[in-house]
Amino acid sequence: MKRTMKIVLGSALSLALATALVGCGTSSGTTKSAKKTVKSTFAYSKSGEITKGEAATGDSVTISIAATSDLHGRIYPWSYATDSEDKSGVGFSQTDTVVKEIKAQYPDTLLVDIGDSMQDNSSELFIDLDTHPMVQALNLLKYDVWVPGNHEFNFGLDFLERNLNNFDGRVVCANIKYADSGKDYVLPYQIYVVNGVRVAIVGATAPHVKQWEASSPEHFQNLDFTNPIDSLKETVKSIEGQYDLLVAAVHISREGEYEEEGKTGAFQIAEAVPELDAIIAGHEHATYCTKVADTWVLEPGRYGSHVALTKFNMKKDENGKWQLVDVSAENIATKGKETSQEVMDAFKSTHEEARKVANEVVGKVSADFVTGVDYITGEKHVTTMPRTQLEDTALMDLINEVQTFYTGAQISTAATFNNDQNLEAGDFKRKDVAFIYKYDNTLMGTNITGENLLKYMEWTVGYYQTAKEGDVTIAFNPDFRAYNYDMLSGINYEIDISKPVGSRIVNATLNGEPIDANKTYKLAVNNYRFGTLMANGWATLKDVYYSSANDASPAIRDLIVKYTNEQLKGVLTPKCDHNWKIVGLPSTFNDPDTIAKIKSGEISIPRSSDGRTPNVQAVQKQ
Ligand SMILES: [Zn+2]
Repeated sequence: MKRTMKIVLGSALSLALATALVGCGTSSGTTKSAKKTVKSTFAYSKSGEITKGEAATGDSVTISIAATSDLHGRIYPWSYATDSEDKSGVGFSQTDTVVKEIKAQYPDTLLVDIGDSMQDNSSELFIDLDTHPMVQALNLLKYDVWVPGNHEFNFGLDFLERNLNNFDGRVVCANIKYADSGKDYVLPYQIYVVNGVRVAIVGATAPHVKQWEASSPEHFQNLDFTNPIDSLKETVKSIEGQYDLLVAAVHISREGEYEEEGKTGAFQIAEAVPELDAIIAGHEHATYCTKVADTWVLEPGRYGSHVALTKFNMKKDENGKWQLVDVSAENIATKGKETSQEVMDAFKSTHEEARKVANEVVGKVSADFVTGVDYITGEKHVTTMPRTQLEDTALMDLINEVQTFYTGAQISTAATFNNDQNLEAGDFKRKDVAFIYKYDNTLMGTNITGENLLKYMEWTVGYYQTAKEGDVTIAFNPDFRAYNYDMLSGINYEIDISKPVGSRIVNATLNGEPIDANKTYKLAVNNYRFGTLMANGWATLKDVYYSSANDASPAIRDLIVKYTNEQLKGVLTPKCDHNWKIVGLPSTFNDPDTIAKIKSGEISIPRSSDGRTPNVQAVQKQ
């Protein structure tokens, strides 16, 4: 991945990075650490209790813990894939504002980050720096604890260990062990004495790193990821009597992953380790705050959308020992918060560097991928009907080609996210990929039966309204979002829109053979659509045979750039196989006189009241 990025990036960064290539015991040069496979000799050296704040003088005190998770390379509220501002509430620049508000009330708040920090949103541009900008941010904002997420292992141990060392706080995770010695990789726990209260933080991470990094075994050489429940239990037992408050910070989803039985998710941890006074989780990119077995379990979402705040009211008993009276927990949204000037100032050059790369030319588009983006006017901006949803185009074929390549699927499916989307002849800048793939969906390969494949196809073509005689245009269902209308490659099919929803797919064949209801096919989908398949019972997690989610560059739009670079040698040439078409059109479809009136503006095509769906009612022959 590292080498790939360098080719994609060209020379713009090399100068900036060269000045920062320091330390880590390697010589200079652009390929320096990429191939190192020697066994890690890393030994995490920090240890010992840490005191925060003056001991409380009264007999009651509130201890507060603020946590972020899954920032995934977000410091500025900016998406470098699209090179545009992200207003959804993202980045340390916004979490910092919330944390500062919390600290105004509770100055000795413990600040915890639960990992997946140094990957995504152009993080990979900075992996050669002595300290990654995300860790620089953790240091600037004085984070006390950092729990490594699975994505921290994406770029190799050299990179990871340099950053674990350079983090000013403590790295806590109980379930990463050296395979040979069984010793802990980092600290299994850390004790803080906050206002006189002894607070123990125990950590754990998703135990499937080896599985996700299987293609790069040097990324976990001599490491074992043990069962988080076993490791947490063992750790908690080892510090019995040493704490007044016990909190777990875990980069683990609610129900864990893969296990049918013996689950090790955050909810199961709550059940299995009753000593815990709260569990703050990450990894799932979910925002929740709930009680399990009488313990608060919460997760602050992804990218810095929320800060998880837990508050513990403590009271001294007659023996002078602190006792927990009650716990409160909440996720505080960062959306709409001012950005922290401190953060914006400190990372200005990082931001500018990433923007520069976003605007670099990474390829060439030899000819327009969609000609006549508007089906009727032929204009680039759609005012009547988008061509991409009425006929197969080179654009959708490209997305499906990329998905097919990386999943090895027989069939691939993709939607448009923007009516005007196109690749126009000329330079292809890195950020241009966002115009053809707006969202950061990841890629999945799933098995699906022919029966369920056809059911799913019938569902997705429900986007079209049923056509009838007199219609000049094809209308879309305003209650069915355009991003739910998928176009498939790998199979040939026709959509008979004269038929009602549920009986429109005709002549569906794969390699000339009709789709067999009882056969199983391999389908490439994005993670969002896989959710649809699951929700409708058309596929289950067991059917998944491929997922890009835990790769260093997991987004489909990253894969499009990678494919352009590695497979197409930088040259994007439109080609379309016309494997699907709409049939059952009325004789009045495209009536020239009426079309002329639409073109002249005499007739306008009705849009949905929210403006999102063009063409919600078929224009009648005039
Ligand atoms: Zn994550």
